[in-house]
Amino acid sequence: MRLSSGSLLLLLVYPIIGWPQGGRLPQPTLWPQDRTAAISLTFDDAMETQLDNAGPVLKNHDLRGTFFVITGPSSTWRMRPRDWQQLAAGGNEIGSHTVNHPCLLAEIEPHSQDYSPEMMHKELRESAREILARLGTQRGLTFAYPCGNMSFGPPTAQARNQALYIDYVAESYFAARGYGGEGEVNPEELNILTVPDLGSTAGKPFPDLLAMMQPAVRGHRWGIFAIHGVGGEWLSVSTEVLDELAAYLQHHTEIWTAPFGDVIRYIQESKALGIRATGHGNQQAQFSLDWPLDPKVFDLPLTLKWQLPPGWTACQAEADGRPLTCTILPKTNQKTILVDVPPQTKSLQFTSK
Ligand SMILES: [Zn+2]
Repeated sequence: MRLSSGSLLLLLVYPIIGWPQGGRLPQPTLWPQDRTAAISLTFDDAMETQLDNAGPVLKNHDLRGTFFVITGPSSTWRMRPRDWQQLAAGGNEIGSHTVNHPCLLAEIEPHSQDYSPEMMHKELRESAREILARLGTQRGLTFAYPCGNMSFGPPTAQARNQALYIDYVAESYFAARGYGGEGEVNPEELNILTVPDLGSTAGKPFPDLLAMMQPAVRGHRWGIFAIHGVGGEWLSVSTEVLDELAAYLQHHTEIWTAPFGDVIRYIQESKALGIRATGHGNQQAQFSLDWPLDPKVFDLPLTLKWQLPPGWTACQAEADGRPLTCTILPKTNQKTILVDVPPQTKSLQFTSK
């Protein structure tokens, strides 16, 4: 890397504005409340057994998942609208999996080989419109590619259509999950419209699912389970296995178990957040924050971590004049604190106690 004279100047100036009171700028923790890793439970295809079995299991363990629904005329989305609304009202995320589930796989109908760009565009637009109209959410939607296929049409058109597909997804959704098991996600390398899952969960016992998520947990990354039927229907896991997995996640609070869209929100907000030191005295440090993403969609609080300046033993924190809880991290030599900062906070102030 070569430094321009501009960046050299920045390096010289940065210690003065960036290290008030000998402390550093507050930084977002990788996961909320400095948790170890993130796990998402996602369910595809809008199945009966998801309403009947998965929903109650999640509720019993105080967890929330993501349900990628197909919205076509014969789907349970149409047959059992109140049940889906209830699931959403319980904090679960409803995402789209198109209207009719077009797929390149020969044994699945409709075949997306037969799709024109206009037909695929309509699948993506209409399912988003349908879900938004039904749920009335302003928080944006996420998407999962049917069969994990990211193109459509005849082989001669698939390269061009792949670019179109991504474009159509971006028009209606703020993030999308693939399918096919490429493993855990490093938030620093997130590809927001092609986020991979952990691999097939069909028929697996609990120890196998646990083994699938271990690389994410050990590597401080994000693991996404893609589940179909629960205790029946296709590619299913048993209700008992989902219950064991949910009990494990509920018990292991160091793992952040959250809907797909919320993990995306946290990662993107963390990356986009601007932090500047705006003032400091012996007993006080002030920072200004900038949240450049759409506040309607990106509405999660961020956990910021800050090393207390020398001589401070505890602190009080305020966000735009409102008090925040300042938690001191255990087992840190130089004391480090955590604060959960509400979205769109403009000014953050720490006072020595
Ligand atoms: Zn599917």
